Amino acid sequence: MKKQMLSLFLALALTGCAAPGPGSTSAPAESGAAPAGSKAPASASQEESGYDRREAIERPEIGAEVVIDPPYDFDPAEMVPDDFGDYFTDCDHPTQVSTYKLAEGTDIENEVTVLQGEEEGPTIYIVAGVHGDEIAGWMTGNLVKKIGIRAGTVHILSPANRWGAEADPRVRYVTEQEDLNRSFPGDPEGNMAQRVADSIYQDIQRVDPVFLFDLHEARANAENKDFLGSSLIYTDLSEMSDMYLEMLMATESGELCSERFNFYGPGPIGSINNTVTTQLGIPTITVETYRGYELERRIGDQLDIVEYVLRYYGLI
Ligand SMILES: [Zn+2]
Repeated sequence: MKKQMLSLFLALALTGCAAPGPGSTSAPAESGAAPAGSKAPASASQEESGYDRREAIERPEIGAEVVIDPPYDFDPAEMVPDDFGDYFTDCDHPTQVSTYKLAEGTDIENEVTVLQGEEEGPTIYIVAGVHGDEIAGWMTGNLVKKIGIRAGTVHILSPANRWGAEADPRVRYVTEQEDLNRSFPGDPEGNMAQRVADSIYQDIQRVDPVFLFDLHEARANAENKDFLGSSLIYTDLSEMSDMYLEMLMATESGELCSERFNFYGPGPIGSINNTVTTQLGIPTITVETYRGYELERRIGDQLDIVEYVLRYYGLI
């Protein structure tokens, strides 16, 4: 059964059937709620925080009125919610932590954190919060800065769109209507979003990771717009098909995350996902969590996915 479903996923994914057009009614997002299968027991840290990521919550129907960013238990002004500090299991390895600047001394300066494990291993790059108001994305990036990895290297840029994340109220764009995720590979002489995109793209090219994470969030239902829901977006599966499909299967069976994740591809033109995949040949997954859920749940799901990939590549 499992193998059959995996083949089905593969067939759908590789033929591009998973990518819905605007207003599509065939998006897998519509079929709804988390599987009712058995849930793994909560870890000690989850019990302490009072948050159970496996708790089933019904997904609202398409078109239903949805509260974006419903109330949550911790202060959203905190860039890192403490409750999630020890969320990863077995991630307290001695780790060298350092930082460096992108576009140092300019108006688009930002900071990258580097985790270096004691053992040799591959490098993974995490870009979180390309959209400033997608808070579970960059809060997850900030949390990952606190873990200890066994091997390899992790670069973390979070929030990548710190201007949007620091605005009050927080906004998707870098400034005005400049969408960072339509500005890649960027332009050092362009508008602010294009310059930011260029600084990020150049750094990814320099670091040359084996894998890139792009942590986002999905908007609530809206007229004439795609409903992505919680999903994993790819542009090319050839370098990572096993891992990608195993992750989808794990969300389907209830072993990973709070619900079944959808799959879509390719990333839009000008997105970091599409550009890094096609121009640099680096496998990339964009993680989207649905903003109609409570923040704790969204961060929990993002951390689940990140942990899965770090483990897959042998970093933890
Ligand atoms: Zn986004």
